[in-house]
Amino acid sequence: MQVSFDSFSSDSSDCVGHKIVRVAVAAPLSRLFDYLPDGELDRYQPGCRVRVPFGRSSRIGVVTGTGFSTLELSKLKAVGELLDEEPVLPKEIVALVTWAASYYHHPLGEAFATALPLQLRKGSSGDIERPSGYVLTESGKTLHAVNRAPAQTALLQFLQLSVGAVSAAECRLFDSRWSATMKSLIKKELVKKVQTKFQPGRITSSIRLNEEQQHASDRIHTMLQGYYCALIDGITGSGKTEVYLDVARTVIKSDKQVMVLLPEIGLTPQLVARFRNALDCQVEVLHSGLNDTERMLAWHAAADGSAHVLIGTRSSVFAPMPRLGLIVVDEEHDGSLKQQDGFRYQARDLAMMRARKAEIPVILGSATPSLESLQNASRGLIETLYLRKRAAGAKLPRMMLIDSRGGAVENGISNRLLQQMKQVLERGEQVMIFINRRGYAPVLMCETCTSIEDCDHCDAHMTVHANSGRLRCHHCGAERAVPLKCGACEATTLINVGMGTERIDEFLSDRFPDYKVLRIDRDSTRRKGELQKHLAMAASGEAQILVGTQMLAKGHNFPLVTLVGILDADRGLFGADFRSVEQMGQLILQVAGRAGRAEKPGTVLVQSRNPDHPLLQVLLAEGYSEFAARLLTERDLTSWPPFVNIALLRAESVNRAEAGQFLADIKKLIKAQIIADAEIQLTVSALGPAHAPMERLGGRYRSQLLVLSKQRKPLHRVLAWLRPMLESHPDARRLRWSLDVDPYDML
Ligand code: ADP
Ligand code: ZN
Repeated sequence: MQVSFDSFSSDSSDCVGHKIVRVAVAAPLSRLFDYLPDGELDRYQPGCRVRVPFGRSSRIGVVTGTGFSTLELSKLKAVGELLDEEPVLPKEIVALVTWAASYYHHPLGEAFATALPLQLRKGSSGDIERPSGYVLTESGKTLHAVNRAPAQTALLQFLQLSVGAVSAAECRLFDSRWSATMKSLIKKELVKKVQTKFQPGRITSSIRLNEEQQHASDRIHTMLQGYYCALIDGITGSGKTEVYLDVARTVIKSDKQVMVLLPEIGLTPQLVARFRNALDCQVEVLHSGLNDTERMLAWHAAADGSAHVLIGTRSSVFAPMPRLGLIVVDEEHDGSLKQQDGFRYQARDLAMMRARKAEIPVILGSATPSLESLQNASRGLIETLYLRKRAAGAKLPRMMLIDSRGGAVENGISNRLLQQMKQVLERGEQVMIFINRRGYAPVLMCETCTSIEDCDHCDAHMTVHANSGRLRCHHCGAERAVPLKCGACEATTLINVGMGTERIDEFLSDRFPDYKVLRIDRDSTRRKGELQKHLAMAASGEAQILVGTQMLAKGHNFPLVTLVGILDADRGLFGADFRSVEQMGQLILQVAGRAGRAEKPGTVLVQSRNPDHPLLQVLLAEGYSEFAARLLTERDLTSWPPFVNIALLRAESVNRAEAGQFLADIKKLIKAQIIADAEIQLTVSALGPAHAPMERLGGRYRSQLLVLSKQRKPLHRVLAWLRPMLESHPDARRLRWSLDVDPYDML
């Protein structure tokens, strides 16, 4: 709590004047608003929602406290309606959100809105009937497959994997069209609907931890009594999840609750089933694929204490859990834990803060820890526990760099990789080809005049999507039909340049006609349920060649994959961002981690046009730890996080000069403030403004100003002054701006 709260308070809290209720209104303003109570003041407890008049309409706000106002009575409006007799947000969540709003310099009312499920945010009561769930009948428990009904078989097997009753929400996570399938299963008396949600089942399998896992678990077990942060630095497949489960089991036995946070893409039905199987308790799930009612239910179950485990994506960090005893943040390095718009919080960092306030342990896990966490570990703030072997006895894959410059490359794939593919396929194993670019080709160029089809709204080329015959901008979503002739010279000599997943798919289908190629990217899995279906096809071996983007990289287990080819590994080496190289390394290792997960050893071929690049070599030859250590040294030398604290002020405008000019003016004010304030002189500086690396996006020109300091406190002192200043700045109304503390990317 380094930041003062003064800026949030609309007046002093002198004990003279009128009694008022202080409200954080969901509006883009940092100050709180005072209202006259309707009836007794002490009904207005912090964490209760109120409907208040605001401007010409009304808004929902959260009570933060009560006090006295010296304003004239005529200037004060009365609260419209008190919506909760008891606070919907308990004290500790009010405190957490308040802390987060002050740390990220974001309006408290909007921060509360982020923390609340939609129905509560909109002002409805949030009362919801307890849902029903589905359980197997005796015959359902033993049946292996439903004749000629693959969807029913899949759903049946999913239920058999799960312990206790399974909710509609979880069935949907498994298959978007589950409802009709379930009806058939009920009709066949394989499944029945039950009212109560959680029913104790039986623990199906219990795994014996290996030595490293046991050591990690033992260590955390000795630290359960207060705040403690462990980083499980364990290679892919080393059994990190089993360690979380082992600790969670103890925590749940002492009647406490467990929160598990993970990136959206890591939240799979398999993972949920694994928790339910291992712990035999009520596991609730919270993610963006649920409808509002389902989210509300999961949130309630966490908040009323009936859920033992809550597994969710980033906003779950704000879910009330009255008996919280452990937080786990899986894939802690993943960028999606940081919200990139609106209230830009980092869920991992808030999880650590929440654990500290609640005096409970928090476990961060990753095969490729963030540089922030590694730095925290080297400063002794986090304890690192290593898992260096693959748990199930599988070997780590061999990794090799291939030079993809020069001639021995066909359609973006080197001959060496093609040869290896042939061998692997002939042995009946699977190949995964990774390219982080969807579509057919990233560029459509005219051979006659060399002009390129660009987006009308962005500084970007249009991507060719051959399947749909469209050109699409991957930045703003604009699209148009693929033209027949060049827009500049009208020649009909347009050619596709570069490779995307569709083109690789086409080429490999052609090259290996006896094998099935399956493409997994955002386009091929757009419809609900398609991703699960594709992943099931991949896992079963029905398709032998898997082509995909980073969707393929995370969490999934494909036992038959023994060869992974990474086609465009080096794009990150020259990224515009200070995090590009770190993210490149993490992605390569996550993708590589898909190889050889079972008994068969795997090989990873990494194609690069810069095979001599020292960082790429270190990554492949010496591993992530050494790679990360080098990057940390580099960040230190070049003064980037985690060695300095930064905040990014972004501005965008349809008028080209305006955003930059605005930031230049703001920079002057910041500089004057720095000189005027003795506590921050010489410690805070402002860099820029600079155009965003891609200046024009969706028709707006973007500029950014970086505010930085080696010490956190002075930076926050400047930001606490800056935010309200921006809110009242006359020019700020003409353009869009945002303040991003600990920004994740600079674009
Ligand atoms: P991670 O979370 O580190 O990627 P998982 O916990 O998913 O790893 O484990 C990878 C695989 O190894 C899973 O199939 C898991 O069931 C298995 N596994 C984990 N620990 C053990 C163990 N001690 N003995 C046998 N199998 C294990
Ligand atoms: Zn565009």
